[in-house]
Amino acid sequence: MRPLSYSSISTYEQCPLKWKLHYIDRIPEEPKPYFTFGTVMHDVMEYFYVEKENGKIKGPRFSAPPLNELLSYYASIWSSEGYESPEQEENYRKLGEKIIEEYRREHSENFTMPIATEHYFMMDVGGVKVRGYIDRVDKLGPDSVAILDYKTSKNPFSLPYVERSEQLALYQMAFEELHNKRVERLSLYHLRSNMDFSVGRRPKEMIDSLRDKIIRTAEAIEREEFEPKRSALCAYCDYQRLCPYFMDLYAKESPEKIDAEELVEEYSEILNKERALKRRKEEISKILKNYAERNGVLTIFGKRSALTVSSYERVVFDDEARPLLENAGLWSDVSKLDSKRLKELLDSGAIPSDLAEQIEKYRKVKEIVSLRKRKIRDEEKDVS
Ligand code: SF4
Repeated sequence: MRPLSYSSISTYEQCPLKWKLHYIDRIPEEPKPYFTFGTVMHDVMEYFYVEKENGKIKGPRFSAPPLNELLSYYASIWSSEGYESPEQEENYRKLGEKIIEEYRREHSENFTMPIATEHYFMMDVGGVKVRGYIDRVDKLGPDSVAILDYKTSKNPFSLPYVERSEQLALYQMAFEELHNKRVERLSLYHLRSNMDFSVGRRPKEMIDSLRDKIIRTAEAIEREEFEPKRSALCAYCDYQRLCPYFMDLYAKESPEKIDAEELVEEYSEILNKERALKRRKEEISKILKNYAERNGVLTIFGKRSALTVSSYERVVFDDEARPLLENAGLWSDVSKLDSKRLKELLDSGAIPSDLAEQIEKYRKVKEIVSLRKRKIRDEEKDVS
């Protein structure tokens, strides 16, 4: 099996079908401005610390290069791939210049030569080959280092986000496995704000669970488990035409397709009406229940039908509990948020206690009003 990388592991986690289309079928994705821009900025960041000629490293630098040298290197490696318009490209180009100027201003005086830039690694995790590049490794002490990854994303990060970063944990695991050094600091460097978001070394539990995840991912790939997995990220997926969840959107017009489209519309109309009727039914139930209570009756008579009122309580969970179950891989046990099944799982102790505690916040006791209908018999009508 070909080696995994952080990005292939996270692609598989996002959607196994996407992973197959990308890594096995090798169907290229559309170039994206943020990928092109990210690649160029990573190259310039490396150039800040090492001398390069014709794309090859000549040697380390001992001080920051002049700004005009950095900017002319930036211009020489610029790529127009993936930009949607000349305006968009120009905006990105200017953004890059601003980042370079600010980065240089911030890091020239205290220039420190890193131990490594774009550091390639290949390691073995339980028989699975994992490879990657670490953007920068800095020396902290005789046997300790700091690892840093540059990001060109729009928004800065929260510290909990950096703490949870499996990419940084993977780099820690790789560097310590391959070199006799201890990783003491891990950072995501947000280039747009020129801010460094750092955390201490990741705990053993995180490294162990990442190791398990790598092995689990490799095993699933070996078993050829490539089911599509729908998520909000599908909106940005280039493989929609090849995905059973979306391919019908791109299907050619045909009489069968037109019939199906009409039936889809009719069906969704029915669903809308069902929802509206359900809401109205609940409103009427409440009004009639209050009527019955105020008047001390259990059966309410209309002209042709009568309704017998009773009520009971049922435990239900808000839809907000769903992401918790999805993240814990328990969603398929509950399917659509089936409160009855979820209550059974919670009561049986099948859900770990810390997760159960979070889910319990969404537990509610709902009063269900039941109105049993029956036809009015002729003799009942004759009361006057
Ligand atoms: S559209 Fe969504 S489900 Fe389909 S392949 Fe892409 S990520 Fe997977």
